This record gives sequence, C-alpha cells and structure tokens, in this order.
Amino acid sequence: MPDPRRATPRTDHVLADDRLQAAVTRLGPTLVKQAVVRAQELCRAGEVAPDEVADVAVAGLPAAATTMRRVLNATGVVVHTNLGRAPLSGAAVEAVRTAAGATDVELDLATGQRGRRGRGALEALAAAVPDAGGVHVVNNGAAALALVTRVLARGDDGRDTVVIARGELVEIGDGFRIPELMESVGASLREVGTTNRVHLADYTSALDDSTAFVLKVHPSNFAVTGFTSSVPARDLAGLEHAGRRVPLVVDIGSGLLEAHPRLPHEPDAAQALREGADLVTASGDKLLGGPQAGLLLGEAGLVERLRRDPFARALRVDKLTLAALEATLTGPVPPVRAALARSVDDLRARAHAILRAWPADLVASLAAEVVDSSGAVGGGGAPGVELPSVALSLPEHLAAPLRAGEPPVLGRTVRGRLLLDLLALDPAEDDALTDAVRRAAGAGTP
Ligand SMILES: *Cc1c(COP(=O)(O)O)cnc(C)c1O
Repeated sequence: MPDPRRATPRTDHVLADDRLQAAVTRLGPTLVKQAVVRAQELCRAGEVAPDEVADVAVAGLPAAATTMRRVLNATGVVVHTNLGRAPLSGAAVEAVRTAAGATDVELDLATGQRGRRGRGALEALAAAVPDAGGVHVVNNGAAALALVTRVLARGDDGRDTVVIARGELVEIGDGFRIPELMESVGASLREVGTTNRVHLADYTSALDDSTAFVLKVHPSNFAVTGFTSSVPARDLAGLEHAGRRVPLVVDIGSGLLEAHPRLPHEPDAAQALREGADLVTASGDKLLGGPQAGLLLGEAGLVERLRRDPFARALRVDKLTLAALEATLTGPVPPVRAALARSVDDLRARAHAILRAWPADLVASLAAEVVDSSGAVGGGGAPGVELPSVALSLPEHLAAPLRAGEPPVLGRTVRGRLLLDLLALDPAEDDALTDAVRRAAGAGTP
C-alpha cells in the first residue's frame, strides 16, 4: 500500500476537474478550495483513495455561497424569530432578484434625474393604508421607534420626555428593551400607571412642558390577564398641554395594516390612525409577511420631518428590502398570511394525504399518526392566541436527525412525541417533508 501522503493528488490537479471548475464559477474559488482541502486531508488520513478525492470534494461543496440554509418550519409557529420571521412570497423573492443588479431605485428613468428612493414601495404602502398622510420605511421596527424618538424627543425645544404606561415597557427579544432603546437616543421616560392598570388621568397628569409625545406600545409578545386596564389610542389622541397638542405615537409592532378576522385583538395601522394616532410604527417581517423593515405611517408633515432628519440616513433601508416590500404589498398573498388563512379541515386533509403516500411499514414503525395541534403566530404578535392546527406525530428521537438533515426540519416535541405541524409549512413543501422523514428514519427515498 503506497504512502497516502505521497499519493494525495495536488490541489491544482484536483481543481482541474470539470465539476469543480464549474463550481468555481458558481461559488467562487475560496469555497471550492476549502472542499478540496478537506478531501485531501481525508486522503492523507487514508480514509479516501487518491482517485476519489475529486468526487469527495464535489460531494462536499456547499449548495450556495452562504452558510444559511433553507429549513422546513414544522413548528406550528407562523412568525418564528429564530427561523428568520416571515418567509418571503415567490413574487418578493423575484423582486429581490430584479433589484439585486443595477436598478432604478433612486433614478427617474423618464427624466434621467435623481428620483425618490424606493417610490414604488412607498406608493404601495401609502395605497395600502389610505389613512396615512405620509409613509416612510427604515431598517426595522426598532429603528422606526428610534427615529421617532430621536426627532421628536431630542430636547432642543425643551421637550425630551416620552410618556408611556408601565405595562407597555416591553422587552422585544434577545435582551433588547424598548425603554432602553429610547433612552439610548436621548429621551427620558415618564412611566405612568402600574404593571396591570393605567387610566387616562395617569397620562394627563403626567403631561408637562418637557413632554415630547405619548407612546402607546402593543404588548406583542405577552398577555396580562385578570385585573387589567389600558387606555385606547382614541382616548390618548389629541391630548393637550398648555394649549399645545401632544403627539400620540402608536407602536403596533406586528405590521397588520388592517384588521385581521382571525386576530381580533391585534391592533392594526389603519385603526390606530383612524383613532387619531399622529404616527404609527410597525415591523415589516411579522404579520405583514414581508422583509425586515420598519414602517412609519402618519401625519404627512411629521413623516417628512422624520425622513429629512440626518439620523434617518443611518437607518436607510436597502434596495432589496424595498423591492421585497413592494412585492409583498402588491403581489400574491405572502406565506404568513396564507398560513393564517389555513383551516383545520384543509390541514387535516393534507396530513392524511402525506401519511397515505408513506409506505405502510414506515408508518407502522414510526407509529405515525395525524393529531390535532395548536399553532401560534409567534414572536410577531397575537400573544396567547392559539391557532388550531394539525400535525404528524412521530417518535421524539427523530428530532435530531431531522434537524441535521438536508433540508433541516424543525418540529416541536410534546409529551415524548415529535409533532410536525403543517400550519406554517407551505403545501409545496410537503414532499420535501416526506423525503426528510424517510431519510431521518433511515428508510431512504424511492
Ligand atoms: C417586534 C416589535 C418591535 C421591534 O421591531 P423589530 O422589527 O424587531 O425591530 C417593537 N415594538 C413592538 C411592539 C414589537 O412587537
């Protein structure tokens, strides 16, 4: 047996392989070389024969030049923060592709002059919320709040205080808190009421010469029940202090532009504006179902002031986001909205159709069955709302191999069983789910 170290083919030799040459064009030289180096190491270790190095390198190529992978969301959580929140619609993905090259995002092709950046997305947003006099888009919901606070509570007019209810001091995730965010751009908070209750008089007695605005934040990721009360936007709109109108800013969080029949307690932008909010802030990638973005809607002059502020430039949104947002607003129903529209009957029929397509011995060995399940909107809103759903129930030990598969499948373990919930999964992914389960169960694919 020859010394594997000596017999290991040289890098340029392996790279001459047609398949690896094609991969260099597609993925770039760095990732292909990494795959070759890994295959050479296996050869030196005696685990791969010298004439197999190219094959092993090809097999080890990444599918794309990103370490992020597509996963199948069988968790039943429609807007899953750790899975990237809203999946984009096909139309939005297509729009991102179009915008990825040179594009007229900021050019008026008719005149050849500079044009309003992202006007298509802004016009679509304005059309979707006719109650908004003006609209603007920034990087995310937190950026929208930061911009509002920075501009309205800067303090150069003596007004740097934001009045907010104690029960609305929300932590949005990963340790980030809305009150701390607002203080970080220079505002002071004047907290009113208690954790569970706040009344209009708490707000009105807190107003003084330093009040910049009143903020109402939707507690989008928790619910307080029992002896509670909060003040609706309509009562907070148009409050005055010393003859001056105090602006009302409403952070609805989830990005519902209008009321959704399945989420009756989730606030929407149109309603908040109709109730008299001067500004509404929201996320683009929760219930709207679009890309990460922060939406600002409201009184035209106020929105223009925000847009023209120097700080707005630091929060400026990318052309890819603008393209995806426009397609989300004008295109077909995005996946998040489609998930919200699924009925239990349809989900059950889907689940049975999936099981019917599995070989009988696989179904038997996994004790696979269709069970009722309960999904959720997720971190994106509607806390406490259970969305009736249907899942495939499998042995819990499949969770790890499914997560490690290609594509990875994420389910939910409940009382010793792994539930693959169909609510958040696109029906077009059902076949991929089947293939993934067969591989994870060691049954292979047909
Ligand atoms: C999600 C959320 C935010 C933060 O929005 P991001 O887009 O995540 O920055 C702010 N306020 C509320 C009420 C939210 O639900």
